[in-house]
Amino acid sequence: MRTALNLNKSVIEPPTAAPVQRLYTASQPHHTAPVKAIAILLLSTGLTLGAASRSLAADPDPDDLPDIGSPAQAMLSTQEEYQIGRMIVRGLRDQDQILEDPEVSEYIRSLGTRLSSQANDGSQRFNFFVVKDNSINAFALPGGFIGVNSGLLLDTKNESELAGVIAHEVAHVTQRHIARSIAEQSKSSLVSTAAMLAAILVGVAGGGDAAMAGVAAAQSLAIQQKISFTRANETEADRVGIGILARSGFDPQGMPAFFETMSRHAGSSEINIPEMLRTHPVTSTRIAETKERAAQMNVKPEPESMSYALTRERLRVLATPAGEDPREYYAAIIGNEPDATPAQVYGRGLALMMAGQAAKAVPIFQRLRDADPTVVQYHTALGQAQLLAGKGENSLTTLQRAGELFPRNIAVTVRYAEALMQLGNSKRAHEILLDLFNVVPPTPEQAKLTAQAANAAGDVADSYFYMSEYHLMSGDLLLAINQLQLALAVPKISDVQRARFEARLEEVQQAMPKRAQRRQVQGDSGNRRRAS
Ligand SMILES: [Zn+2]
Repeated sequence: MRTALNLNKSVIEPPTAAPVQRLYTASQPHHTAPVKAIAILLLSTGLTLGAASRSLAADPDPDDLPDIGSPAQAMLSTQEEYQIGRMIVRGLRDQDQILEDPEVSEYIRSLGTRLSSQANDGSQRFNFFVVKDNSINAFALPGGFIGVNSGLLLDTKNESELAGVIAHEVAHVTQRHIARSIAEQSKSSLVSTAAMLAAILVGVAGGGDAAMAGVAAAQSLAIQQKISFTRANETEADRVGIGILARSGFDPQGMPAFFETMSRHAGSSEINIPEMLRTHPVTSTRIAETKERAAQMNVKPEPESMSYALTRERLRVLATPAGEDPREYYAAIIGNEPDATPAQVYGRGLALMMAGQAAKAVPIFQRLRDADPTVVQYHTALGQAQLLAGKGENSLTTLQRAGELFPRNIAVTVRYAEALMQLGNSKRAHEILLDLFNVVPPTPEQAKLTAQAANAAGDVADSYFYMSEYHLMSGDLLLAINQLQLALAVPKISDVQRARFEARLEEVQQAMPKRAQRRQVQGDSGNRRRAS
């Protein structure tokens, strides 16, 4: 079992003190396996995952095999797609590949939502996240999970280019290209696909081994989806994506413009050909077609958001490779120039803060915030810098005021809660996180932070409850049940809490696959407290 997922450990972990972290030491390109290995891959994935779930049962149980049906029905259901996508994301999170920075996450989610809300009737769920990877890539996973590499964001020149790539990925999802490509592959290897699915789905109920399954699935499916979109899929994603782009108020020329950037990469002598180019060959025909299509769109793009430029600088600082100093970058490009853009000044402030010079960053962020108090990121950066500079009271004042200006903003609430916890007021941190938790659909990181605040505030039962929610979001039902049982075992919980925990426990148990449900009941019935 992976200790990273051990709830007790997570709950007693001290709150994270360092708000700005170095993300990674070097770019970690994912290398693609030979294209034709797909059938072997599916088979070996089945075996790997089978091994992961072997602790659960020695023999395959037909009850657990998803009903794949005849090849004609070989398309995955949206629920199966979602489960698989969630497992893959969890594998990425376990490997610390997902950037968990509230300001960046908020930006990518709002950009993604702006695009996806123009994409369909709303029946498809979407989930957008940034991957800590300097290679230029974006990808769609089954179930509407869309990842954007930090390297891609940094390589775009304006927000419409970034939106163009994301719109293309959104189109892959709405046109169900992934499910189709899996179906295509599985026609020749239905058995191994079924094994893979069963292993993943059983793995969902299988506790820590599921993390292994998620990782294996991440690799195989990432490769699988990268190589199996057809040219027709790509053309369709361009066509549908450019419509999404225009309807969302972006410049549709952003899409061909970024294709041109990529084709310049291909023509250069760079060693690292962008990942994106391998899966999305850019031909002059493709550029010409998208340009032509964009020209036909009769739209007046909206002004670019300030958040785009700020997020770019934020990522630039967060993604600085070990051994390099982001302060040098800003010294070289802006020096003492008075005409530096606000985003560059913001980046320089972050670079100072990250280098342990928070006191120098404070006046920079203060000036930015006073010049334009409508920008959330200036408030949170100022609050963080003040906290790091030892000005705790100032930090709380800054963040409290930000909370009044931007009620229930996720980044503001998270930064405010972090400051409160660090300054010993976990009770207030728990209150504001709980309020956010109940109103805004929480992310797994948020659920975990709320659990930490509750625990620090002495609300142990609630902290178990939030950890159970965290595990539910990551698809680990057994760990979720375990946390709910711990919550129920805490002495002197209120009737309201008991009712809430028991209702949730009932729901989770209902959602368990059949075999795991039987085992769980056999194994744990002695510990369970029933309301009756
Ligand atoms: Zn594509």
